[in-house]
Amino acid sequence: MEERTIYDVVIIGSGPGGMTAALYTSRANLKTLILEKGVPGGELLNTSDVENYPGFPTISGPELADNMYKGAMQFGAEYAYGQVSKIELDGDVKVITAGKKTYYAYAVVIATGSYHRKLEVPGEEEYAGRGVSYCAVCDGAFFKDKKIFVIGGGDSAVEEGTYLTQFGKSVTIVHRRDQLRAQKVLQDRAFANEKIDFLWNSTVEEFVGDGSKITGVRVKDVNTGEVTTHDADGVFIYVGLLPVSDPFKDLNITDAEGWIVTNEKMETSIPGIFAVGDVRQKTLRQITTAVGDGGQAGHMVYNYVEEIKEKQ
Ligand code: FAD
Ligand code: NAP
Repeated sequence: MEERTIYDVVIIGSGPGGMTAALYTSRANLKTLILEKGVPGGELLNTSDVENYPGFPTISGPELADNMYKGAMQFGAEYAYGQVSKIELDGDVKVITAGKKTYYAYAVVIATGSYHRKLEVPGEEEYAGRGVSYCAVCDGAFFKDKKIFVIGGGDSAVEEGTYLTQFGKSVTIVHRRDQLRAQKVLQDRAFANEKIDFLWNSTVEEFVGDGSKITGVRVKDVNTGEVTTHDADGVFIYVGLLPVSDPFKDLNITDAEGWIVTNEKMETSIPGIFAVGDVRQKTLRQITTAVGDGGQAGHMVYNYVEEIKEKQ
């Protein structure tokens, strides 16, 4: 029979959470493999300036991602492309499927992050990539001197709305309430920006277009019920996050919305399966908290793998 390689730990996802876990486990001499379906960095690659990561007063998301990747790889971690579709249990060994490949490990750290929630209104799917976007850093430059709309009232909408003012003629933030959810510092900056205006108490009914690109947004005032159509060249949707946990749903480690439930040691209910970062049920989804989770999980993985090896 073919000898199978058993990693001490496989880490799924190379955003800030996964890369920190890899730094800790490889530095503790554990045989570590990172599996990533894209490129290293996760959401950092879609973030312009990061101003709340200690040690760097301001750093671009991609530069921080590059630094984290170099740090994570310096103690011998392996890195491979792979989109993980399931984890199965074989005694103490976890069997990880990624495409046509199978990997084996004593421990797994799930660090698959989250994805942008859709608004699910008419025109959203039809004009995705043709004026409707979920990533200002990726697509903002297409809208130089254009009318831009941003949907949402959280950190992402307000921060990315402000970022988009460097390109657009105007940026209109459409929010369903009369108060923003975003951090105060981001709100203050947006309120002070002359290019930004707000449509309060408003929800999007439809994105309208000419068949090839978006031309407007139909907005409903939730208090009066009045519906108005506004000209728009580009729309950026930031209405929250959903967990990337579908591949793990058979493990029964998620809550009703799909967020993975852990204790403060990042342990799930299955021994040897840990979760970190945005995919976890938690209150604050940030780079600092993902990194903290990664360090904690790395430490617990070391203890767990040592125990397994002592048993053998
Ligand atoms: P992610 O960064 O999402 O990384 C997950 C990784 O897992 C990805 O690389 C993905 O490709 C990979 N993956 C997913 N599924 C699979 C699979 N099946 N197989 C293999 N790989 C997989 N936080 C701040 O602190 N400061 C900011 O300024 C800031 N700005 C932000 C701006 C925006 C627009 C957004 C959306 C978020 C921002 N955040 C910010 C939040 C921050 O980016 C996240 O909290 C952080 O990136 C979470 O890290 P993570 O490692 O958990 O997940
Ligand atoms: P979020 O905090 O969940 O905010 C989502 C926003 O969209 C809310 O204002 C919400 O309205 C609105 N919304 C939700 N569903 C909607 C719908 N169906 N129709 C219209 N509006 C809807 O999501 P986020 O802003 O993407 O932030 C996600 C995480 O990333 C947070 O933890 C955040 O702190 C972090 N982040 C941090 C930074 C930073 O630190 N600089 C930057 C970006 C993101 P209500 O307010 O009415 O609920």
